[in-house]
Amino acid sequence: MRLTVVGSGDAFGSGGRLQTSYHVSRAAGDFLIDCGATTLIGMQKLGLDPDRVDTIFITHLHGDHFAGLVWWLLHAHYVTGRTGPLTIVGPAGIAQRFAAAAEALFPNSTQIDRRFEMTFREHVAEVPATFGGVTVTPFEVEHPSGATPYALRFECADKVIAFSGDTRWVDSLLAAANGADLFIAECFGYLAPTGHHMCWRDIETNLDRLAAKRIMLTHMGPDMLANRAQVHDPRVLLAEDGLSLAL
Ligand SMILES: [Zn+2]
Ligand SMILES: [Zn+2]
Repeated sequence: MRLTVVGSGDAFGSGGRLQTSYHVSRAAGDFLIDCGATTLIGMQKLGLDPDRVDTIFITHLHGDHFAGLVWWLLHAHYVTGRTGPLTIVGPAGIAQRFAAAAEALFPNSTQIDRRFEMTFREHVAEVPATFGGVTVTPFEVEHPSGATPYALRFECADKVIAFSGDTRWVDSLLAAANGADLFIAECFGYLAPTGHHMCWRDIETNLDRLAAKRIMLTHMGPDMLANRAQVHDPRVLLAEDGLSLAL
């Protein structure tokens, strides 16, 4: 199993990084974690095949985490002629938010006669659900985005990947990350939390409580990017677009 960082950026293109998306490849089929507006750009650059992805998991309904679904739909229909089914799993109301975004950006795009089945499913807090051999457990976090936001914990084969999504520090992250082979943590700020986001100080303070084997910082804003060389803990690595990890 291999995790590739398609986009490690914030919503604003800080550091020239693409918006949030993580690709996981497995012999049994690939899945995606979040799909920011720039996701297809990153996948094309990395040579990753969107048609091999059968499930896309979405943490919360901000455009830098789900707007790429609009381009995904059009690319699958008009460019590759996808026929394999696609399941999108996200917060309550994701089907309606997707339709609103698709109609705003490409009028009538929700009416096209697709050759593939596109199914939306909704997270239920702390209830595990299995899609294509991947079991996801959502944990509620705090990040206003028009629908409940989640940290997601993925279990497949004997590996665990967890992702904070966007959130200020909340203790539900401990349950999401517990024992994970990799915990991907948003880290927008350096020493001070900004808005509804975490900073490195939040994560550093909680490193011993976050019982994950490795922690990867992502979604870094300008201040955190400028100070990322100050992070020295051996458990912590820094996300980069295109970084690929064997799990
Ligand atoms: Zn974000
Ligand atoms: Zn957000």
